[in-house]
Amino acid sequence: MTTPCIICVAITGSVPTKEDNPAVPISISEQIESTQECFEIGASIAHCHVRNSDGSPSIDPEKYRKLKEGLEKYCPGMIIQLSTGGRSGHGFERGKMLALRPDMASLTVGSNNFPSRVYENPPDLVEWLASEMKKYSVKPEIEVFDLSHIHQAAKLKNDGKLVGNLYVQFVMGVKNAMPADLDVFKYYIKTVKRLLPESLWCGAGIGKNQQILNEWCIEAGGHVRTGLEDNIRITKEKLAPSNASLVNIAKELCSKYERPVASWKETRKLLEIGDKSG
Ligand SMILES: [Zn+2]
Repeated sequence: MTTPCIICVAITGSVPTKEDNPAVPISISEQIESTQECFEIGASIAHCHVRNSDGSPSIDPEKYRKLKEGLEKYCPGMIIQLSTGGRSGHGFERGKMLALRPDMASLTVGSNNFPSRVYENPPDLVEWLASEMKKYSVKPEIEVFDLSHIHQAAKLKNDGKLVGNLYVQFVMGVKNAMPADLDVFKYYIKTVKRLLPESLWCGAGIGKNQQILNEWCIEAGGHVRTGLEDNIRITKEKLAPSNASLVNIAKELCSKYERPVASWKETRKLLEIGDKSG
């Protein structure tokens, strides 16, 4: 039987603004509304960041608490994944929201360049974030910006610092980091299968690479991430009218390759995440 494809929607991120695309949800209520629309058409993971009212990025645990509560109410069963990557340079503050015990959180296990800065993930911070995730039973999504990050995740797993089947995400197409390169993508999969055989993997492509990564992942049996955090356009000329419009593109690709879309129940089962809401 074909494995159902998990669709994660990254609704906001910390970079795109309403000036870039008015559909980017900024306030908590906009985020909840946008996520609910995606949940109702098949997205089963919400990757979340929070913003200040002026649109600037925030890591305020109180904002995360409000968002999490709203999503639990309006998207019952959906897997809530909070970002710990939001504001590089803020050190240990980046993990304060883990005490909220979300289903999942992102975990970047090494550093790399971003378009105009270094994305700093020093070893002591990574190990602390991993230990907090273990303490609060939060499933990490390993963000892979580089091949070495797969090796680092395997090391953390072998050392007992990460537990369970990992969810490994290949991020491709960030300017100054790994481009969307098909040979590298295939080698990433090969390396995950070799070092972390029980893991699941997915891909996130930035900008125009979003649909490319969606297709590569769906065709190769992996899972996908979409959403306005990574890409604000439907085509080169046209802005995406909503997060849901991007989820629909991923769904169409699932149909093309005859992959059923994973329900939230199937996603919880695949990722070995219990239903925390009871
Ligand atoms: Zn993010």
